[in-house]
Amino acid sequence: MAYDTPEESQESAGSERWGAPASRPGLGVPGDETRADGIPEEAGPARDRPAPFDNQAPGETHSPGAEEPPPRVGAPSLDQARMEEALAEARRAWECHDEVPIGAIIVLDGEVIGRGYNRVRTDGTPLAHAELLALTQAVQHLGAPRIPGAIVYTTVEPCAMCAGALLHARVARVVWGVRDPKFGGCVSLANILSDPRANHRAELTEGVRADEARELLQSFFRSKRAMQARPE
Ligand SMILES: [Zn+2]
Repeated sequence: MAYDTPEESQESAGSERWGAPASRPGLGVPGDETRADGIPEEAGPARDRPAPFDNQAPGETHSPGAEEPPPRVGAPSLDQARMEEALAEARRAWECHDEVPIGAIIVLDGEVIGRGYNRVRTDGTPLAHAELLALTQAVQHLGAPRIPGAIVYTTVEPCAMCAGALLHARVARVVWGVRDPKFGGCVSLANILSDPRANHRAELTEGVRADEARELLQSFFRSKRAMQARPE
């Protein structure tokens, strides 16, 4: 659903579920489930939103499946700053191509080595997800198919396709803003990057700048619905 526009979606209100966290032990933390300014109506009534984890701080990183939470990894403020770059990519998708605003960057040793934003409709292929485009750029930059140590920042939970590619690339860590309950392949529908049967696992952090990622998506879908509703 993340990459579907309203006309492609089988849902009547496709933007109403961003980032709703499902309680699932041992996984990352939603960072923004208690908005002081109230959740926009588009985000759905509060009663439909599962309760947030109350024993973990926003942006905290957990290794999925671990019995004991490991130490916090990375400085939260650094994650916030880097997510701004992913958000900038997401805005570019909307502003430049009228695409669903999802963006991603990949960082290695403090350097951004890959950037991407959703271009599915522009490029006419379901492969043109933000994460895959950023990954392609990153591996081309390094001249190698694997980027161990890399950190991926993406505004929305990676789908199964992207999570699979990131697994193949052996990225160290994936950080995202909002969950995607319809397509998410990291915690929502599958745990591709934390499955103990796989030969590689990535650390997962969620909820970083989730409000902004969600608001961007909601604004996009609101504008699309308004245009559809406008009489010819
Ligand atoms: Zn994807």
